[in-house]
Amino acid sequence: MRLNSKLKTQNSKLQKLVPLLLDWFTANARDLPWRRTRDPYAIWVSEIMLQQTQVKTVIPYWNRWMRELPTIEAAAKASPDKIHKLWEGLGYYSRVRNLQKAAQLIVEKHDGKFPQNFDDVLALPGIGRYTAGAICSIAFNQPAPILDGNVIRVLTRIFGIAENPKEKQTNARLWKLAEELVCRAALITYQASNSRTRTRTKDEDDCCSHLNQSLMELGALVCTPRNPQCEICPVKKMCIAFRENRIEELPNIGKRETATARRFAAFVVERNGRFLVRQRSAGAVNAHLWEFPNVEVAAGILPAVEPGVSPGGKNIRNFNPVNIPRHIPGGKMPPSTAGETPAATMLAHAATHLGLEIRNAKHLSTVKHSITRYRITLEGYRVQLRKQPGSRVGIWKSPAQMERLAFTAAHKKLASLAVNRILSGQ
Ligand code: SF4
Repeated sequence: MRLNSKLKTQNSKLQKLVPLLLDWFTANARDLPWRRTRDPYAIWVSEIMLQQTQVKTVIPYWNRWMRELPTIEAAAKASPDKIHKLWEGLGYYSRVRNLQKAAQLIVEKHDGKFPQNFDDVLALPGIGRYTAGAICSIAFNQPAPILDGNVIRVLTRIFGIAENPKEKQTNARLWKLAEELVCRAALITYQASNSRTRTRTKDEDDCCSHLNQSLMELGALVCTPRNPQCEICPVKKMCIAFRENRIEELPNIGKRETATARRFAAFVVERNGRFLVRQRSAGAVNAHLWEFPNVEVAAGILPAVEPGVSPGGKNIRNFNPVNIPRHIPGGKMPPSTAGETPAATMLAHAATHLGLEIRNAKHLSTVKHSITRYRITLEGYRVQLRKQPGSRVGIWKSPAQMERLAFTAAHKKLASLAVNRILSGQ
């Protein structure tokens, strides 16, 4: 096919796609709480929460956030503890810190009013091209394109794009397609507003917003990564992947990064109904969040353990760390040396690396958690202290105080189990 006729075909395809997508969205859009408002702040919060997180998980978080911090000013003024607690469990905590920085900037530079200019929105911390496009189109009905995982899947399948969407040229092509679609939707609003014979309908008012959301929604509900429901898809007649039976191979995202297993041993220490916990420092992963003192465990050093069994299946109740080297460099626990049990190495490392001198380690629970490409196993041990730790190791908090702090997901699970079990005398 010659380039001109190829372009013509593509143009007429784009033209036909827009009303199909808009009609489908009007009839099938889910009733989500952030879809009942045009408040840019509320839409912004939803978009940031929805990054890497499913809709059903986000709904209660969004409701709670909007109840506690209903305005940009409230978000700007909230304490770091408050915003982290409201985000606790959503993960990727730099998102919430950036959200607050952006709220503070809006108060400072824009008098507390969310900016409407696309470049001003894009300049805010934590807001990239996708999020700026989503806010500007959904809140202000601007013809700003969006391209995320869902939209990439829908477009590569409809247009039969076999190249990897991460490649620069292909990515630019996808942005262009998304832009052409939303600009065509804008034309519908424009034409309706210039009509002398009738007034604009509500749907015509929201064409850019609905077009972008229709792509996201189609990707979430119908054009799913596996087993898409092509039979009920509004655009199946125009879909190259469907026609050519190439659905499985599109989008061509290349090989997935292999998952890395990481293991940690955490130490639960209780004194007079209080627990020793520490806050992760600024700049670290999960900065500002709370956790039990813990160390990363070198692969293969301890066999997996079941609740109630001591590490390595051995009783380490009266372990005497007399032959343990006093200095073990680095954050990772090294393999055991000759004559030393893995459990002993663990205790020694805890003592030297964390500043804890402990005895009577007893396995409490093992928690599994996945984050990005890491598959984390957190082994929790109840331990007793040989000596009071220095203040740099952590601080003592009651269960009620711990409730008010934001913990990392794995440590939160361990905390609720450990607190119940220890305080009930189990
Ligand atoms: Fe996706 Fe199937 Fe619709 Fe094509 S026809 S867009 S593959 S759901």
